[in-house]
Amino acid sequence: MKTTTQALIIGGGVVGASVLYHLTKLGWSDVMLVERSELTSGSTWHAAGGFHTLNGDTNMAALQGYTIKLYRELEEITGMSCGLHHVGGVTLADNQDRFDMLVAERAKHRYMGLETEIVGPEEIAKIAPITNLDGIVGGLYDPLDGHLDPSGTTHAYAKAARMGGATIELHTKVIETNQRADGTWDVVTDKGTIHAEHLVNAAGLWAREVAAMAGTYVPLHPMEHQYIVTDDLPEIYERDAEHPHVMDPAGESYLRQEGRGLCIGFYEQPCEPWAVDGTSWDFGHELLPDNLDKIADSIDFAYNRFPVLERAGVKSVIHGPFTFAPDGNPLVGPVPGLQNYWSACGVMAGFSQGGGVGMMLAQWMTTGECERDVTAMDVGRYGKWITPGYTRPKVIENYQNRFSVSYPNEELPAARPHRTTPMYDIFSDLGAVWGHQFGLEVANYFAQGDEPDYEAPTFRRSDAFAATAREVKAVRSGVGINEVQNFGKFAITGAGARAWLDRIMAGRIPMPGRMSLTPMLSPKGRLWGDFTVSCLSETEFQITASYGAQDIHHRWFMQNAQPDAHVENISDRRTGFQIAGPRSRDLLAACTRDDVEGIKFMDVRRMTIGQVACIVQRVSYTGDLGYEIYCDPMGQRQLWWTLWQAGQPMGITPFGMRAMMSLRLDRFFGSWLSEFSPDYTAAETGMDRFISFKKNVGFIGRAAAEADRANPPARMSVVFEVDADDADVVAYEPVFIDGKVQGFSTSGGYSHHAGKSIALALIPRALATEDLEVEIEIMGQLRKAKRITTPLFDPDATVMRG
Ligand SMILES: Cc1cc2nc3c(=O)[nH]c(=O)nc-3n(C[C@H](O)[C@H](O)[C@H](O)COP(=O)(O)OP(=O)(O)OC[C@H]3O[C@@H](n4cnc5c(N)ncnc54)[C@H](O)[C@@H]3O)c2cc1C
Repeated sequence: MKTTTQALIIGGGVVGASVLYHLTKLGWSDVMLVERSELTSGSTWHAAGGFHTLNGDTNMAALQGYTIKLYRELEEITGMSCGLHHVGGVTLADNQDRFDMLVAERAKHRYMGLETEIVGPEEIAKIAPITNLDGIVGGLYDPLDGHLDPSGTTHAYAKAARMGGATIELHTKVIETNQRADGTWDVVTDKGTIHAEHLVNAAGLWAREVAAMAGTYVPLHPMEHQYIVTDDLPEIYERDAEHPHVMDPAGESYLRQEGRGLCIGFYEQPCEPWAVDGTSWDFGHELLPDNLDKIADSIDFAYNRFPVLERAGVKSVIHGPFTFAPDGNPLVGPVPGLQNYWSACGVMAGFSQGGGVGMMLAQWMTTGECERDVTAMDVGRYGKWITPGYTRPKVIENYQNRFSVSYPNEELPAARPHRTTPMYDIFSDLGAVWGHQFGLEVANYFAQGDEPDYEAPTFRRSDAFAATAREVKAVRSGVGINEVQNFGKFAITGAGARAWLDRIMAGRIPMPGRMSLTPMLSPKGRLWGDFTVSCLSETEFQITASYGAQDIHHRWFMQNAQPDAHVENISDRRTGFQIAGPRSRDLLAACTRDDVEGIKFMDVRRMTIGQVACIVQRVSYTGDLGYEIYCDPMGQRQLWWTLWQAGQPMGITPFGMRAMMSLRLDRFFGSWLSEFSPDYTAAETGMDRFISFKKNVGFIGRAAAEADRANPPARMSVVFEVDADDADVVAYEPVFIDGKVQGFSTSGGYSHHAGKSIALALIPRALATEDLEVEIEIMGQLRKAKRITTPLFDPDATVMRG
């Protein structure tokens, strides 16, 4: 057995094999995979082998598209068969909401170049004649849906990897992973020790145990899952062509042809987590005992939807475990807090996603970044707050919702509240309707009077519309107050703090007492963060950005660490409030003896507010005159009572995220993972105006940003006023210019201040005329939209800066 390697992958399921292949594809040939048994010995061997592109996250859908197209390539390279059946598939909708969701998915597919199609009951009858269409409104047909041979495909990946130089050691169990001082790994197996520069955890059902060997936790949990294979059915074997897949979300089932019969699997409500206290090393190539009682309701439903099933005998029942992350997406990338340790776990749909996961991880390992935004599957999207106690109920919820309609304004209830600030009960008493961000409870709005204390999930304007309008008006006419807990915050201290910031951030780093906005770029010039930098002194800075991205950002900071700059994640150690609106200055002045009048836009000061030591920043994401006031969480309630009592005569009003996201539209402010994301460069999004090309520093991404400046990118971010009805854009709606899809929305919503529906979108720069008129598809309807270039509130920023 080889005893040294550049990269060692633990686990020979479909995911480990795909990572191995993709590393060789990208040029690493000194790579190795160890498998404790035979290839496919975890979840992989008993999978139903189905694949599809449908995924609520657009980047995940694109990676699923990549995976499906890869199989032919594998067959060509290896001469092996993946047992491909490209039969197409239809997802049924039995009510208007489900149909609306499919229509919205179809709209996204248009700009992604996927050839899906909305079909009515008559077409479904032709595509899938065994379906009882009672109550079916329509469906989405995807010609790429199909299935394959799980074992053949995994072996094809393995052969292709071997052809690229990779080594595979079977019957070799990893028992310890020990890091050396230089960051490389000694991997102890039952056949000897292997020294690896990089380590990949692709241990599937045992990923938790393998992660624990390195002292870390991967937030996933295995769930039991069953599918049934029927005896031969004449309705199937007498057909001229293979029957396509049918996904019936109402019945939580997926169905396809298997041989001369059918195969149907269920995501049943009374589902069971498996191996709660850990996966036994003795679990091998085996199945769980049949449990048809657990899926009895689902089977009854299926008998009605596919009456042919009632006449079919059961040939076999496959009951096995597979892993899920709390949101159902994979856990991929560098594990925060560890060096040279990579995750390729939690892949619940290995045959839809395994290729994309392998490709992205291999790009990350070989080049330092991926070609697209992989936040949706980044292992760093969960922070240190995540525990098995949180993961398990979330995974159960995810399994149960696998086929549910998922709405843009939906807040899922399991495992909540998980993390709360000292304001939780005070805000609850004020009517807070809570949302959930990165484990934290965040107020979406505050219900008053007969406003609903639960926001009903919808694709259209929600029943929080009136409450949001009221809060927006209160901010714009008086003063609003909201927490600043949900910002990611870092303290950068030390003699080298400024130099470090200058290198890591593309923008200007401010002088003491001042703030600046700056993009953080990847080496290839893509956006890795949009930060606010506050200089408290030459050796002390506070930087803020997305709360949800804090671990991803911290990981990047650690990868670029410098001994004389100390970086500390203080996201949960500094909290406070933002106050915004024309009376916000009066409010602040009423709470302090310090000078308020002299604080200019983008100033930062240490001040005493009431009794509490605070950092006050003159800035507002709502676009109003406003302040962010940070304090120690222990002082937050005291600070609240000071501001709240002083604000009473001014009509102080608490406002939530719904109002904030409406207010920011008026000034065309973008937001992280919508307008600004690793999918885009600064110049595409307008963030380049914050890049300091004047500073004499080789900041990360400089060469790429300069290239963009010399040759402006082909697309640019613009704003439209949309002639909408009762639904606004959410994201990724296609933008039609001259009747062709030429762009897509990045976010939008309703401006309560202006009474207008607004869309932010990326379109070709060459077509971005000042008076451009386009159409945007919202809920299946083409809506006229015209470009606007003047902000809807405070167009010359005199209020915000005044
Ligand atoms: C009933 C059922 C039906 C399914 N149907 C589908 C479907 O239709 N389509 C689809 O896309 N997905 C389906 N899946 C899910 C699919 O099986 C998984 O997504 C996929 O198999 C995950 O692969 P993996 O490589 O991540 O993990 P695994 O297959 O679990 O592989 C992990 C491997 O790591 C090895 N290993 C673990 N620890 C060590 C160690 N210490 N040392 C050495 N080796 C180790 C194990 O032996 C194992 O071979 C289904 C799952 C089930 C249970």
